Amino acid sequence: MSTDCIFCKIASNDIPAKKFYEDEEVMVFHDIRPIAPVHFLIVPKEHVVSLAECDTKHQALLGKMLLLAPKLASEQGLKGFRTMINTGAEGGQEVFHLHVHVFGGGDTLPKV
Ligand code: AMP
Ligand code: ZN
Repeated sequence: MSTDCIFCKIASNDIPAKKFYEDEEVMVFHDIRPIAPVHFLIVPKEHVVSLAECDTKHQALLGKMLLLAPKLASEQGLKGFRTMINTGAEGGQEVFHLHVHVFGGGDTLPKV
């Protein structure tokens, strides 16, 4: 737990979020500023700064987070989706607590 981390505060229910999946290790909630009709974040409850701070002890957690993406995207009505993990300020990361973006719906996503 990092006291000034917004996602840790969501994990401890100190601030609200639109959570729709939760287990002992992971929580999933809708992004507050969606960039697509469906946009949610898969987040470990443990404070991990970013993908760059992960090592082999996070292997199972990372696999679990990725495998949740298609399951939850389908439950949210998506037939296809994009995943994104911003890493470090130069990678566009703004919240320094690891998270996987999952988004889709509406028009076709731009080609990357
Ligand atoms: P990133 O730029 O990859 O660090 O993404 C951080 C994401 O967290 C952004 O898409 C924000 O819109 C989202 N976000 C920030 N605060 C909240 C919050 N309180 N509840 C839900 N999503 C949030
Ligand atoms: Zn945190």
